[in-house]
Order: sequence, then C-alpha cells, then structure tokens
Amino acid sequence: MDDSRRNPSSDDEVALRRIQRLSLHLYSPSAPLSGELSLLPCRAKRNLLASVESLSEYMRGPHREIQSRIFEFFQSRPDLQTPVEISMAEHRQLCMRQMTALVRDAGIRPFRYLVENPSAYFAVAEAVGGVDISLGIKMGVQFSLWGGSVINLGTKKHRDKYFDGIDNLDYPGCFAMTELHHGSNVQALQTTATFDPITDEFVINTPNDGAIKWWIGNAAVHGKFASVFARLILPLQGKGGKSADMGIHAFIVPIRDLETHALLPGVEIHDCGHKVGLNGVDNGALRFSQVRVPRDNLLNRFGDVSRDGKYTSSLPTVNKRFAATLGELVGGRVGLAYSSVGVLKIAVTITVRYSLLRQQFGPPRKPEVSVLDYQSQQHRLMPMLASTYAFHFATQYLVDKYCEMKKTNDDQVVGDVHALSAGLKSYVTSYTARSISTCRESCGGHGYAAVNRFGILRNDHDIFQTFEGDNTVLLQQVAGDLLKRYQEKFKGGTLTVTWNYLRESMSSYLSQPNPVTARWEGEDHLRDPKFQLDAFRHRTSRLLQSVAARLQKHTKTLGSFGAWNRCLNHLLTLAESHIESVVLAKFIDAVQNCPDANTREVLKLVCDLYALDRIWKDIGTYRNVDYVAPNKAKAIHKLTDYLSFQVRGVARELVDAFDLPDLVIRAPIGMASEAYEQYTQNVGF
Ligand SMILES: Cc1cc2nc3c(=O)[nH]c(=O)nc-3n(C[C@H](O)[C@H](O)[C@H](O)COP(=O)(O)OP(=O)(O)OC[C@H]3O[C@@H](n4cnc5c(N)ncnc54)[C@H](O)[C@@H]3O)c2cc1C
Repeated sequence: MDDSRRNPSSDDEVALRRIQRLSLHLYSPSAPLSGELSLLPCRAKRNLLASVESLSEYMRGPHREIQSRIFEFFQSRPDLQTPVEISMAEHRQLCMRQMTALVRDAGIRPFRYLVENPSAYFAVAEAVGGVDISLGIKMGVQFSLWGGSVINLGTKKHRDKYFDGIDNLDYPGCFAMTELHHGSNVQALQTTATFDPITDEFVINTPNDGAIKWWIGNAAVHGKFASVFARLILPLQGKGGKSADMGIHAFIVPIRDLETHALLPGVEIHDCGHKVGLNGVDNGALRFSQVRVPRDNLLNRFGDVSRDGKYTSSLPTVNKRFAATLGELVGGRVGLAYSSVGVLKIAVTITVRYSLLRQQFGPPRKPEVSVLDYQSQQHRLMPMLASTYAFHFATQYLVDKYCEMKKTNDDQVVGDVHALSAGLKSYVTSYTARSISTCRESCGGHGYAAVNRFGILRNDHDIFQTFEGDNTVLLQQVAGDLLKRYQEKFKGGTLTVTWNYLRESMSSYLSQPNPVTARWEGEDHLRDPKFQLDAFRHRTSRLLQSVAARLQKHTKTLGSFGAWNRCLNHLLTLAESHIESVVLAKFIDAVQNCPDANTREVLKLVCDLYALDRIWKDIGTYRNVDYVAPNKAKAIHKLTDYLSFQVRGVARELVDAFDLPDLVIRAPIGMASEAYEQYTQNVGF
C-alpha cells in the first residue's frame, strides 16, 4: 500500500498486536495460545443441547438388543476375552473358542440371521468385531464367505445338506478363491475342475504353483470344507472335440476328515504364517492334486452339468455367469464397510475422550487446558468425528438397500447395491485406516501403549482395504458404473435411485457456474444443504463429463485398456467424489428425519462440518472452475474452523452416543471415567 494512504491508528494497532504476540513468547514458552482459549468451549456448549440418550436412541440400529446380548455374554466370560499379549497359536484357538461359544453357549446364530435377516447379521458382525476384529473376520469367513457361497451359489440340495452343519459349526469351512498369482483378477484363476463322465465326478487340480490357493481363511487349522473357485472344464465339449472351458465356478471340496481332522487325500495345506494383523485367523495355502468330488458338489445356481456331461445355464455367456457369481458375494463388502465404521467409532471414542482428559499448557497463571481445546487438535479430530457420523448413516442405508435387494431381486436395486457396496467399502475402509494413525498421534506417547489399542486396531483393520476386493480395483468398478449411467442418460434410459441426481446436476454443470452464487458467503447459504449437495454433485458431474471426453479421445490412439489407464487417477477421483455425494445426501436425510429438535440441531452442525470440510479440502477444484469465488473460499475455511470448534463443545456427547461398552473400548485412556487410574493400575500401581 502507498505510505501516504496509510491510516496511522491502524498502523499502531498492528504494531501493538505484534508486540503482544512477541511478549507472549517471551513471557511464557508454555503458553502458546491466548488466554481466551479455555473459555471457548463453554461458549459453544451453551448454544447446543446435546442429549447422549436422544442421540444414541436415534443412532441405534434395530438390532441393539442382539448386540447387547453379545456384549453381556463376553463380559460374563473373561476366559473368552482376548488379552493384549497373545501368541498366534493361542489367538487362533481362542478365536475358534469364541465363535463356538457365541453359537453354542450364547445361542447367537449368525448364519440364520445372514439368510433370514441380513441387517441383524451385520449388527452381530459389528459387535463381534468390537470384541476382537480377528473374531469378526473368522466369523465372516465361516458364515458369510463359506456359508454364503453355499447358499447363494448353490441350490436346494446344497442348502439341505450343509445349512445345519455350517450354522452349528460342525462344518467349519473356507472360501478358496485367491491364488498365489491372482487375487484381484479372479477371471484369470487357474485351478481346474474337470468333469469325469465315467465316475460322475469333478477332478479338482492345481496345475502349477501359481494356482496354489493362497491366504485362505480358516484353512491352516480349523476348516473341514472349502468352496473352491476353479475353471469348469468339460472334456470333448469344445470346438473340434477339444475340452471346453466354461469359466469360473465354485465347488464344495472336503479338505479334512470330519472325525479325525486329518487332511484328505490329494489335499496339501501349509500355513501362511504370522501376519501384520488378524493373527487370530488361520490363513492357509492349499494345493489340490486330482481331488475327486461328486458332481453334486458343483454350486450350480448359475450353471450346471448333466450326468452325460452337458452344460446348461440360464445365463448366455461366460462373462454374464461370472458377473452373477461374483455379484452374489457383495454381502461381504457390505459387512466390511459397516464393520469398518465400527472400528472408526472405537478409535475416535478413545481419542476424543483422552483429548478431553489430557491437559497440556495453558494461559499464564491459569489452569492447563484440554488438548482438544487446541485448534490443531480440533482440526484433525472434529472432521473425523463428523465423518464417522456421516459413514454411520451411509452404511446403515447400504445395509437397508442390501436387505431390499435380497427381498426383491429388483434389477435396479441390484445395480445400486453392487456399485454402492464397492464404493463405500473402499472409501470408508481407506478413511478408517488413515484415521487410526491420526488417532494414535493425537494421543501422544500414551497412544503408543499396546493396551490403548491403536496398534491392534490399525494392524487388524489395515487389510480391510485389500480383501473382499482391493480398494483401487473396486473404485474403478464404481467409475465404470458411473460411465455406463452417463451413456444411458444420453440414451434416455433410467438411472438407479442413488444415481438419479446425475440427471439434474449434469444439465446444470453443462451450463456455466453461476457467477452470483459463486460469491455468496453468508453462513446461512454455506450451511444450506442445497448449496452443499449442489457443490458435491457439481464436482462429480464435472469429473464424469471430463473423464468421459478424455476416454473417448485417448481410446482412438491407445485402445480402451490404454485409455482407461491414462485416465486412471481421474477415474478414481470421480468414484470417490460420487461416494462422497451419496454419503452427504444420506447424512442430510438423517438430519431431516430426526424427530427431536435438539438432536436434529446437533446432527445438523455435524453434517455441516462434514460437508464444508470436504469442500474446503477440495477447494482447488472448485476455484479452478470459478464455482467458488476467492471471498467464498475464505468464508468456507473460516466457517469450517468455527464448526470444528463448535463440535468440540459437544464432542463428548457425540462419542458417548456411539454407546460402546467398556468391553469394546478397553483402552484405559479411552474409559468414560477414571481413565488415568485405570491406566496406572494396568501397569501395576
Ligand atoms: C489376511 C488376508 C485374508 C484373506 N482371506 C482370503 C480368503 O479367505 N479367501 C480368499 O479367496 N482370499 C483371501 N484373501 C486374498 C484377498 O482377497 C486378496 O489379497 C485381494 O483380493 C487382493 O488381491 P491381491 O493380493 O492379488 O492384490 P493384487 O491384485 O496383486 O494388487 C496389488 C496392487 O496392485 C494394484 N492393482 C491391481 N489391479 C489393479 C488395477 N486393475 N488397476 C490399478 N491397480 C491395480 C492394487 O491396488 C494393489 O495395490 C486374503 C488376503 C489376506 C491378506
């Protein structure tokens, strides 16, 4: 600024502020922030009436009673609680005992829930995962993967023969899909199942080391059966009398003797050994050498072989059968997304409670303040707390949609659930994995004590990003689905429910952003769900339209595979952006449907923080296309900080409303009361 135009009084103010700031440093190095700090939370709290009871009531799913039964059962059985230090061998045995006791002593039948009432099954999986994530995964392998493959890929004869044994654990089993050389690319599996018309059997074979089944849960120690995914080969049925490869099918293969537990002839199993986490689950590698199983062991819902070796299927192509087969396995992804939110709730609860308890520094001659009163701590934890709420409602919605799909088999719902489960599984598990590390750091040194859980939560949860579909691969399915819908839009086809917004926002995107609204910066406008949702959807529509154009351009020179690869990061961003739009839409619905006014107000605050934090994190994208003018970007930033600060005022209530019992939290520093006492007792004081 020109010196002659300077206002002398404002110059003085600037100088004064500078001196005050410097004097703060000189005066007390232990008081880095202004004296107002400790007053702020009270101010925020006065404005909002957050009732844990009411929040909890609204958040609670329909199956809280079953979850409570599970918690009470494990609470009453200290012999079934997982200690902090445990060897791999003991942990595996303990997990098996925990699962058996759950089924046989507590009378909880996860398999029946899975088949009759899937939302109850997911609630059981979440609760059991809270007891020990290894147990949650072992249970998922037994009931959702092994049991689910029999029920969903097989027919009545399989259900009649295996249901009870799977349900009561007489038939512990595995799901053997992945091979040493192929995990994500299931269509390239090499294990074969060749029909022998003379004996009316299939011969299961591992043709080379690359085809050894790898990472198979429940295989190293406990499994007696496996559903084995293999290429179905029909001799003499191909062109010119050659063998015909009918593609990937699943077969029930007994692997151990039901009485003696000895390996059956032709089955070789080795232990995959100690893992980064989930060491309560016994993963194994299996090789099959000409193992014979009856023709009936083909899980024949989508394709069958007659006594004379003829293949029949209601689905016309190998690709369609493959899609139908894998499509039946989406339940596992729904469960992982849902359980991942459960893990995030645990980590966030421990961290927020401890951050409230922990006091470091403070204004001169005043009490120390909670570390949660530092803006930096609020900045990393409050949007995370808001995201936890957002994911809670989104995964609840996913579970409801999954149940609807199971009931109706409606094509549109099926499409919706497939893409949504892939998207939410990858988005939520990646977010949780990153957040657990942030939680550990936010708890300082005490966050590093094993007893305070972050190590085990992080290590056990980490692989959620990879199994049941690698996250990067799943996001591409979402992007592919969006592109398909995009083409359909221009052909005038119908869009599935979750995708409907594209029709409207795509048209508004194709017209330029409104230069007037791009400047609106009032709080009412920024906290208007319409503005927030429009912004999210505008971004998705823009990404979709631009990637479609890029793909078209590059396909001409690179072919479709090369073009896809050239645009891959763009496609992944598109998929994440879409999932964020869905998450926000579901959160807004949840706020609007909340019957209690005070609770609704609290949820609205949390939802606004989720939305504005996401917009701020991506502000470059919005600025680049002038969707948001510079003054508006600044206002969004300011408001995000303010909302974080407000959410901090009700942070305890928000985590208490997750309603997690001490059995699940377990970390002494995360206890609702007497955390320090529990922690000192834990080391022997
Ligand atoms: C603890 C554990 C338990 C498991 N349990 C079972 C089980 O019970 N049964 C079973 O069948 N399997 C199981 N698995 C296997 C699991 O499902 C696979 O590991 C998973 O599907 C990923 O496959 P992959 O390991 O071959 O990874 P890869 O596909 O080899 O991926 C390696 C990397 O390449 C990237 N990549 C791969 N393809 C693409 C692409 N198209 N575009 C961009 N990037 C790509 C991935 O993002 C990843 O970063 C388990 C694995 C583990 C670790």
